[in-house]
Amino acid sequence: MCGIFGIMGGSDVHAARMTYYGLFSLQHRGQESCGIAVNNDGDVTYHKDMGLVGEVFSDTMLDRMPGKMAVGHVRYSTTGSSVRENAQPLVIKYVKGSLSIVHNGNLTNTDFLRKQLESGGAIFQTTIDSEIIAYLIAKERTLSATVEEAICKVIPKLEGSYSLLVMSPKKIIAVRDPLGYRPLCYGVMDDGSVVFASESCALDPVGARFIRDVDPGEIVIADRHGIRSIRTNCGMISRKCIFEYIYFARPDSFIDGISVYRTRLEAGKLLYDLHPADADLVIGVPDSGIDAALGYSQASGIPYCKGFVKNNYVGRTFIQPTQNRREISVGIKLNVLAASVKGKRIVLIDDSIVRGTTMARIVRMIKEAGALEVHVRISSPTFRWPCYYGTDIPSADQLTASTNSVDQICTNIGADSLGFLELDSLSRMISCEGEKCYCDACFSGDHPGNIKQDI
Ligand code: SF4
Repeated sequence: MCGIFGIMGGSDVHAARMTYYGLFSLQHRGQESCGIAVNNDGDVTYHKDMGLVGEVFSDTMLDRMPGKMAVGHVRYSTTGSSVRENAQPLVIKYVKGSLSIVHNGNLTNTDFLRKQLESGGAIFQTTIDSEIIAYLIAKERTLSATVEEAICKVIPKLEGSYSLLVMSPKKIIAVRDPLGYRPLCYGVMDDGSVVFASESCALDPVGARFIRDVDPGEIVIADRHGIRSIRTNCGMISRKCIFEYIYFARPDSFIDGISVYRTRLEAGKLLYDLHPADADLVIGVPDSGIDAALGYSQASGIPYCKGFVKNNYVGRTFIQPTQNRREISVGIKLNVLAASVKGKRIVLIDDSIVRGTTMARIVRMIKEAGALEVHVRISSPTFRWPCYYGTDIPSADQLTASTNSVDQICTNIGADSLGFLELDSLSRMISCEGEKCYCDACFSGDHPGNIKQDI
C-alpha cells in the first residue's frame, strides 16, 4: 500500500516539482513517509522523511532539486517498520553509477532472498524488501549490457507483488509483476515528457494524457529515444487486487481499463440485490463508502443523503498503523450529521469491516444522533484471511469475520441488520468474464502461488 510516481521530462520540465504534484494525488495510498529523487545529468539528489508530502517538501527545497528525471514515493509500511531509513526512494551508488528505486507491493520470499544475499556478503541498510530488489538489480547490472536486461534476470527471482520505478542515469524503467497485483500506468505530456504513476488520477494534475496501464509482467522503458516495452508475462492471468477497486484507489482512477467509481457504484447495486432493506435514507461512510451508497440508492429508490461531516485534514483510518491511532482518528475525522439521520431508518454503507471496532463506533454515533434503525451494508465480502501482497490486513485472529458469524458481527457492532457482498459478486462488479482475473485472497483464502505454504 504505497504510491509511486516518476517522470522522464522534456526540455523545460522541473521534474521534482511535477513529482511533488503527482505524490499529492497519491497521498491516499500512504501517509507515513514520502520522498523524491531527482537526476540532473547524472547527479542524483534526494530528500525523504516521515510525514505527508506537503509537510516534507517546501518550495525552497524543490527549487534546490533541479533536473528532468525524478521518481517519488508515498509510503504505508507492510514490510519493514515505519522509520525514516525505510522511506523511499532508495538511492544506491554502485560501479555503474546510481539507481533510484520506488516500490509498491510486497515480496513473499523476502526472508529467503535476504538470507541468501547476506550469506554471500551483502549488507543491508534498511529492513524493507525493496532494498533486496535494488541490490539484485545492481548486482545483475554489472553482468548485463543494460539495466532492463538486468531487471529481466531479476524478475524470475522475485515472488509476490511489485510495481516498480527504477531510475538509472539515463532512463526510467517501469516494472509490474507478472500477476499485476498493484496498479501502474503511464501518460504523456504535450512536451513529450513521460509520466508513470500508481493511479491515473495522478496524471491529470500534471497535465499528462493517460496512454495505458503497464501490463502485468511488462517492463516499460522511457529514455531519450522514446518509450519501448519488454513483456515477460508468459501468458499468466492477471491477479490484480480487487481491494484496489473497493477501497484503496481514488474513484477518479481507472485501473486496467476499469473505472474505480463505476465499480463502486455497481457494488452498491449488487449489495441491494443481495440485501434489500426497508429504510428511509441511504448514507455512506466517507470516502470509499459514498459511491457504493449512491449505487444502493439508485437500485433501491431509497434517497441518498449526506450522513457525515468529514474533517479532511485527518488521514484515512484504515491506513493508520496502530489500533489506538485508528480509533482516535475515527472520532476526530467523522461527525454524524444529526439533521439528516434523526428519526430516520438508515442504510449505512461502508467498504469493509476489519476488526469491527470502527464500525461499532460509527453505528453508535448514528444512533446517539437519533436514528431509529441502522442497517449496515458492506461493499465487499467478509475479510477472513491476511494479505501477503502489500496490504496491511491484520492476522486472521484480529479479523472479526474469521471468528464470528455475520449475525454475531451484527450484534457486536450494534446494527439492526448486516449484509456483505458475496464472493461471486466480485466478478460482476468488475465485469470479469471467464477465468478469474483478480486476487480476492483476503476474502476467499485463494492466495495465488500457494503462498500459505510458503509463509
Ligand atoms: S489479498 Fe486482498 S488486499 Fe491482498 S492483493 Fe489480494 S485482494 Fe488485494
